[in-house]
Amino acid sequence: MTRNWAGNHTYTGTLVRPGSLDEAADVVAGAEHVRAVGSRHSFNDIVDSEATLVSLERLAYRHPSLHPDDEDLERSGGLRDDDGGGQPGGTEPELDALTGRVRVSAATRYADLARFLEDHGRTLPNFASLPHIGIAGAVATATHGSGTDNAALASSVVRLELISADGTERTIDRDVDGDTLNGATVSLGALGLVHTLTLETVPAFDVAQTVYGPVPFAALADAFDDVSALGYSVSCFTTLSSNAFDTVWVKQVHDPDSPHAAPESVLGVPALTAETHPIPGIDPANCTPQLGAPGPAADRLPHFRADQLPSAGEEIQCEYLVPRHSARLALHALANLAEPLAGLVQVCEVRSVAADLAWMSPMYGQPCVGIHFTLVRDPARVGAVLPLIEEAFGVLGGRPHWGKVSAADPDRVRGRYPRREDFLDLVRTHDPDRTFTNPFVRRWVG
Ligand SMILES: Cc1cc2nc3c(=O)[nH]c(=O)nc-3n(C[C@H](O)[C@H](O)[C@H](O)COP(=O)(O)OP(=O)(O)OC[C@H]3O[C@@H](n4cnc5c(N)ncnc54)[C@H](O)[C@@H]3O)c2cc1C
Repeated sequence: MTRNWAGNHTYTGTLVRPGSLDEAADVVAGAEHVRAVGSRHSFNDIVDSEATLVSLERLAYRHPSLHPDDEDLERSGGLRDDDGGGQPGGTEPELDALTGRVRVSAATRYADLARFLEDHGRTLPNFASLPHIGIAGAVATATHGSGTDNAALASSVVRLELISADGTERTIDRDVDGDTLNGATVSLGALGLVHTLTLETVPAFDVAQTVYGPVPFAALADAFDDVSALGYSVSCFTTLSSNAFDTVWVKQVHDPDSPHAAPESVLGVPALTAETHPIPGIDPANCTPQLGAPGPAADRLPHFRADQLPSAGEEIQCEYLVPRHSARLALHALANLAEPLAGLVQVCEVRSVAADLAWMSPMYGQPCVGIHFTLVRDPARVGAVLPLIEEAFGVLGGRPHWGKVSAADPDRVRGRYPRREDFLDLVRTHDPDRTFTNPFVRRWVG
């Protein structure tokens, strides 16, 4: 049985790990139902298949500088090579020097791609909190980082190459297919098996991160937009156990020719002088360097180091993306959850995400504030409080993160996606027999 990274969910379906694209096409063509499995960082049943799970991990690119052994690989996000699979090196990305676009194998982790791009003076505009996740899975679930002007990671995609249900190859390209690509990026795995993505890259840049805290909760709630504007990427962490945000992480672009000093304080609170972990009590050695030390964007924008365990490991995550104009209300609603969630919260992260155009993205058409919960790995106790979280943020128009748990009403969620019917048309066009549709997709999309 294959479990997700956090160990809170056991997938249905039989895992197959093809060693070539031809083999993958044969597996797909021969299966009644197929779901792609990425690096298994989702917390719900999004991956489950009624028949076959396909991992393209053996084709993923692995940068030579990042060679976790099998045990590390399993905990840090990859699948264990216990069936003799694995292909150190994998398929090397192709960088077009003229356009800056990179073509990369779907299961490649952001960490490996970032190292490859750095070797060529390029990077990506943003990263999630951890660089361990696979690119195709992150794109399919609208995974995002932080920053008022930073949209979800799927926004960098310009081309998808997929294997369809009959094993044939399809391509969806922004330059050729226009808006259709916006329907295809955040696909929840329902369009086909994405084997290669082409992403836009940007010139490599450095970032310095400085952490402040504790910052009074009410003051930050009132000044959320101003605090969010303090850096390229800003994340506010609270355990809800005091009337404070324990830490505020400000990540600023660092240009050695015109150094931009970190803010002296955040709402009057000075910077910490020792490194810290978002979850109090965990060794900050797992985190990317702080204290204003500049370094490559991929080593500062994620909170967690690529070669270490991210977050807590034993956890369940929940997140709502709430329209940014309701940020203040959302933060007050968050404060009101302190009592019912006592003993369950490891940490909450509040961050801004820019609007995007992906039809099934929770940030579609609206800048959002992400209200995220890292909860204890106790499905029964967490399940009991999820309705309270839904009550708090659903009423504000919040859309749950596709890869995390929620007690949202599927009818209500479907109603919050104005392009859902267009997406379903796209699914029917690409996959008329709904080979790639599982109960999760039926429930939340149709
Ligand atoms: C510690 C931790 C920190 C996290 N931090 C963040 C964060 O900062 N921001 C955020 O937004 N989320 C975050 N997440 C959630 C995570 O980014 C998403 O759940 C994401 O989907 C993970 O990608 P994955 O490869 O593990 O996908 P999986 O969970 O394996 O799969 C998710 C979906 O992607 C589809 N998929 C995967 N590969 C393919 C493919 N080749 N073709 C077609 N479909 C495919 C699957 O079918 C499924 O529908 C975090 C999760 C963890 C565990």
